Amino acid sequence: MLTEPADAIGRLSYHLNKLPGIGAKSAERLTHYLLAADSQQVLALADALRAIKEKVRPCRSCFNQTEADLCSLCADPRRDAATICVVEQPRDLTSLERAGTYRGLYHVLGGRIAPLDNVGPEKLTLDALVRRVRKGGVQEVILATNPTMEGDGTALYISNLLADTGVRITRLARGLPSGSVLEFANNQMLADALEGRRAF
Ligand SMILES: [Zn+2]
Repeated sequence: MLTEPADAIGRLSYHLNKLPGIGAKSAERLTHYLLAADSQQVLALADALRAIKEKVRPCRSCFNQTEADLCSLCADPRRDAATICVVEQPRDLTSLERAGTYRGLYHVLGGRIAPLDNVGPEKLTLDALVRRVRKGGVQEVILATNPTMEGDGTALYISNLLADTGVRITRLARGLPSGSVLEFANNQMLADALEGRRAF
């Protein structure tokens, strides 16, 4: 289905089918489930969908997703503000938080430098990162971009950007299989990769 159908049932199937992991058959099944479900449940789902677009925005400091000006991590005085862990996406931050050993702050780039996909450095939150580091008080920047060719390239680019700031720049240890994605690494792997980080 390439264009959006005009009828309500067709429209819902069409949009569900665009979600990752939802094929045409599953989309149809979900559509019929929702048709049969009670109104309250379906409207609550519709509200939740609307809310993530209307209420969630990037944290003013680290670009994590938040409903406030500052995210809960940046606003937490118990977090160590001298360490910034740089990740590609909010979901990477979530994975590292789930590993449970990191106590510093984060910086979410919003992607990685990917010339083939037309993603240049200007599309990432690099200016804000440099400003954060230059403001002072930061001792270490951990480059936790994915261990892929593009993630490595992005890490190298950032280390050059920050080279004259004097902060310690480290990269996650290679406990993570090369080419793997942080999002799918298990907690122990991520904890080990953080623990064993090395000067970059
Ligand atoms: Zn934040």
